[in-house]
Amino acid sequence: MTKLFEFKTDCYQEKRGGYSSLLEIYCKVCSSFLFFYQKDGEGDLFRCYLNRILSPEIYASLQDSENIKNIDDMTQLICQNCKEVIGEPMRHGDNRLAFCMHQECFILKTNKNKGTYE
Ligand SMILES: [Zn+2]
Repeated sequence: MTKLFEFKTDCYQEKRGGYSSLLEIYCKVCSSFLFFYQKDGEGDLFRCYLNRILSPEIYASLQDSENIKNIDDMTQLICQNCKEVIGEPMRHGDNRLAFCMHQECFILKTNKNKGTYE
């Protein structure tokens, strides 16, 4: 078994119960794949934190970008294929930047093998 992704284990994960699941986020309008996401703990997905987007690079690199320090530096989360707006820039109470997700605009699938593959 090889791991596709390593989950990030940090204070944020700790606060949500110390476990995570791997989600695949898709555009609801055109079914295009958007990104892999590490969801910490239970509950619905209202926000996608930049530091939990695992792949692909176009989204995963946002968290490390020197040019993104504030909400104003971010753009909306837009489907590259059909241009549907999926999420809005926001800053959560714990100071992390995130996308506030339009609930009616995305589909999520749980990657049951938690990012491992044979
Ligand atoms: Zn789309």
